[in-house]
Amino acid sequence: MAEEKQSISIDIKNLTKQYGEQKALNNVSLSVNEGEIVGLLGPNGAGKSTMMKILTCFIPLTSGQVTVCGYDVNEEPMKIRSIIGYLPEQNPLYNELYVREDLEFVAGIHGLRGKERKERVDFMIEKVGLQKEVKKKIGMLSKGYKQRVGIAQALIHDPKILILDEPTTGLDPNQLIEIRSLIKELGRNKTVILSTHIMQEVEAVCNRAVIINNGNLVADDTVEALSEGQTLEKKFREITMNV
Ligand code: ADP
Repeated sequence: MAEEKQSISIDIKNLTKQYGEQKALNNVSLSVNEGEIVGLLGPNGAGKSTMMKILTCFIPLTSGQVTVCGYDVNEEPMKIRSIIGYLPEQNPLYNELYVREDLEFVAGIHGLRGKERKERVDFMIEKVGLQKEVKKKIGMLSKGYKQRVGIAQALIHDPKILILDEPTTGLDPNQLIEIRSLIKELGRNKTVILSTHIMQEVEAVCNRAVIINNGNLVADDTVEALSEGQTLEKKFREITMNV
């Protein structure tokens, strides 16, 4: 088994993903250190979800090398899945399950049993503020609470790495602020990659931003450096419209 690297959590080297004729990622290299919260930005169709699906071992890469905590996505996908938490775009959930039932089910998939499972589910319910909703079916919850269930699911096994694909899409302004601060708080001891279309979200939550355009990595810097002298939004438009 590979040694877990201490400093680099995610290492992407010359990653290319081809869907038939369509090149979704083109020779992308990116390295993310432990504890960083990275905002992944790019217009629709840029390749953000593709990158996240490769990192979480949902789809295979075409060429290049991707390691997560030193484990190669091609060689040790099950190991990677055990140390990664993933909230996919559109947050697919089991609407017919009750909140607790759902979290216990997901915890079980991760191998948690008995007392340990119950304690972990209780901990996550409290952490994401689902106490009052716990007896409801997921289908009955508001969008903001559904997002909380998705985040609780992603974190139930206490992963080292958290991958969130547009976690705040469709939330009202209050929910948005709540979920952002939740991500910031929960991400304190984790490496987080967060894709979003909202620049203020990156400014509020992330310390680093990566911009992808047409499958190419076109910017990678601290949020401060990228927005220096202007807003991140302006910088984003400048970069993605000129390339
Ligand atoms: P983003 O998340 O930035 O919106 P995606 O990674 O979803 O971008 O998509 C990148 C490109 O790859 C898009 O042009 C999209 O249409 C294409 N694509 C995504 N998934 C598939 C697929 N399963 N088959 C074919 N093309 C795909």
